[in-house]
Amino acid sequence: MENLDVVIPRPQTIISAPGVLKVESVGEVIAGEGLERFAAVIVRNAGIMGLDFTQGGVPVKLELSPEIKVESFELDISPAEVKISGGDMAGVFYGAGAFEQLLCAAVARGTRNAEIPCGKIVDSPRFSYRGFMLDSARHFQSVETIKSVLALMAKLRLNVFHWHLCDSQGFRTESKLFPELNTLGTMKPGFYTSEDIAEIRAFAAECFITIIPEIEMPGHSQGLLALHPELCCDPGNPGKEFCLAKPEVRTFLEKLITEFAAHFPDAKVMHLGGDEADTAHWNECPECQKLMKEKGYDDIRKLENDFMNDMAAFVRSLGITPVTWFTGSVMEQSTIIQVWRSIWELKETLKNGNRMIFSVHDQLYLDYPASAAEPFENWMLVLTESGVYNTEPFAAWEKDIGDLLLGPETCLWTETVPDHRIMAKLNPRIYAFCETAWSQAKRKEWYNYVHRKEVLSACGWFDLKAL
Ligand SMILES: [Zn+2]
Repeated sequence: MENLDVVIPRPQTIISAPGVLKVESVGEVIAGEGLERFAAVIVRNAGIMGLDFTQGGVPVKLELSPEIKVESFELDISPAEVKISGGDMAGVFYGAGAFEQLLCAAVARGTRNAEIPCGKIVDSPRFSYRGFMLDSARHFQSVETIKSVLALMAKLRLNVFHWHLCDSQGFRTESKLFPELNTLGTMKPGFYTSEDIAEIRAFAAECFITIIPEIEMPGHSQGLLALHPELCCDPGNPGKEFCLAKPEVRTFLEKLITEFAAHFPDAKVMHLGGDEADTAHWNECPECQKLMKEKGYDDIRKLENDFMNDMAAFVRSLGITPVTWFTGSVMEQSTIIQVWRSIWELKETLKNGNRMIFSVHDQLYLDYPASAAEPFENWMLVLTESGVYNTEPFAAWEKDIGDLLLGPETCLWTETVPDHRIMAKLNPRIYAFCETAWSQAKRKEWYNYVHRKEVLSACGWFDLKAL
């Protein structure tokens, strides 16, 4: 094994050099301007490992380097100095995390005579989009749980938190316009106040994580429509879908989206759902049928497609890029499409040239049981850690897709996952996922990963706080 080869996610390049760094000779951390908080974390975590990095000695230097790309870093270890250079703040943060892994592995048996081999790690992410989706609509999680998830993501260099906040079972952002929505919550009541959301946003920013909030339409809206049956095709029998034709539906949703977006003033991307809407109510609705005929359509799905494109256009008018789940409909090209049912959706989406997020369920849905010992529902497959690890988003069409594939995103739906099980569902499969999202395909080797994971687990690195 390359002696520096314990880092997760596995780096692009590891260059060994002669000599060793005696860990006890390290005595200070010198931070460039604005990097002091990373230095403080290294000093704190070194202290937990029994090392004093404040007494003067071999320095650990943190610096920004304009020659290095964003999110990328170089970690240079010699007997006389450790240098961590990042292309931006995130790059320094990730480089500091890699150094802590080496340090933690080195002192697993105590600090005495512990050493790190000299050499250099040069690393850069494979994908600029490295996502995790959490469903807070089915089961509701505390602010503390969300922050624990964000902290874990930061440790694993995941940088997009897709937050599924609204579904049939709950509407989880505070609404002053429609406060009745916050009474929903069939599996667990609760909602995030403006203050909660602000706290989570601030924490995510510290973690270099972007939030993509999701609001659902035209399906997955049973709870909301039970409170607002006038927005259904048949108010006497409200289902899960908004009526596609009633003008008051658009007025309502535009107000709701505007309020929802205001909770996330720095969000540049918003998810509009769009998946799994049933056509039964639309097929029976005189207004939907009339509008369909006026437009000359032979398929109600075309009306649904217009509806989603209109809502996406409204989101765009707020200066926000919309995302929808893949439905088979063609969305205006600037809408990002999240593929989830099959790798073939990539190929379908490619025809219209939309950008894509890769979340194919049998490779990346972490609500699926990792083993037969876990509770599961009849729609679920077993998804092992190696199954997640071996996910390859590019499949056979790499050349065609190019930059249109933003990156992969793993998803945790919570129909069967109450708050206290969130971390149990994530660990360790999310470690495997981070390597799919960050590491070059040619650097991924399952048994090598398992070894590194065991080294880092055994030495306690996963228990150290990254912030
Ligand atoms: Zn209708």
